[in-house]
Amino acid sequence: MTGSRVQTVLDRIYAADMPDLADMEAVLRVEDRGELGLLFGFAEKVRREYVGDGVLLRGIIEFSNVCRNTCAYCGLNRLNSRLRRYRLTAEEIVSAAENVSLAGIQTVVLQSGEEDNLDAEWLRQVIEEIKCRLGVAVTLCVGERRREEYQMWKEAGADRYLLKIETSDPALYRELHPGMSFENRVRCLRDLVELGYQTGSGNLVGLRGQTLRHLAADIRFFKRGHFDMVSASPFIPHPQTPLAGEPAGDLTLTLKVIALARIVSRNAHIPASTAIGSLHGRDERPRALAAGANVLMPNFTPAPYRQYYEIYPNKRCVGEEPVRCAACMEQMAAAIGRRVDYSRGDSLKSESHADSMNARDMGIYAK
Ligand code: SAM
Repeated sequence: MTGSRVQTVLDRIYAADMPDLADMEAVLRVEDRGELGLLFGFAEKVRREYVGDGVLLRGIIEFSNVCRNTCAYCGLNRLNSRLRRYRLTAEEIVSAAENVSLAGIQTVVLQSGEEDNLDAEWLRQVIEEIKCRLGVAVTLCVGERRREEYQMWKEAGADRYLLKIETSDPALYRELHPGMSFENRVRCLRDLVELGYQTGSGNLVGLRGQTLRHLAADIRFFKRGHFDMVSASPFIPHPQTPLAGEPAGDLTLTLKVIALARIVSRNAHIPASTAIGSLHGRDERPRALAAGANVLMPNFTPAPYRQYYEIYPNKRCVGEEPVRCAACMEQMAAAIGRRVDYSRGDSLKSESHADSMNARDMGIYAK
């Protein structure tokens, strides 16, 4: 494509109610530096206009690596017998949440593998304790659960929920998630939205069998779902998984997906994920922040456990002290002319979209 053609396609994607798959595929294929500059520049313009220059911080606590699932890409999958499993106590989680709050960060993300034995009532008490003591926003990321459990946690004060679709292609999803159901994942997302959670979804870039068309469809899935938060992260191979021998997801392709996600979703919060910071042993998160992202997620999992939350190898900051994180994030933001925003960073989507959610919106039937 020529530069002016790229610009025309980008304008069309931006203006469309539902962007054309072929248009997005064409943009995902762009390799020329100048044309990439047009894409990232457009995403940055949209980011500046809709979410501003602030970089929001979310302190993540990985409270358990126990998992019942066998996702083909994930080091936590239950067949990985080499991984030492752990689950923090309620006291350890609340203490880690205090560290998040002491660092001035007003969102605590509680993430875990998908545990059969996770006691919903126990988690409810943890949420209540954090809300009552610290008053921070609580984001949950504990996978697929029953609607009643989501409701219980919402009533306890949880504000947000992250559940990536990973891939919006049902066939590819089934191949990578033995024993799991694409329909149930979508059911969960629908329940979360209906219950009033600020809801985030996202995908992995570079999965075996994934095409540019799949990625374009993921971006349409984000648009249809009208999510408050959207993420795109590179797949990183883990040696104890069926995808051990596969190449990692491509950084530039991931940045292109982030840029398109920004352009179509306007004001969703989009992280420069830790996987982007870990991919090549170099921290490439500033490049994601310069391609439309506006969130960083420093890790507050207590040191003895952090190394065991090994979804992929060589994860960034595993040896860092959480107290240093805020300063490091400030430096990263300043280096690209931005600033850390210590506010809660709630959803910028004003209208309630629960009413418009149905299976078709989530793209089960329509593509
Ligand atoms: N179990 C919860 C769920 O399903 O949402 C949360 C935990 S799960 C480990 C968190 C995220 O890790 C997943 O959404 C997935 O995208 C990411 N992940 C797992 N393995 C990965 C890999 N090899 N490379 C990059 N990201 C990975």
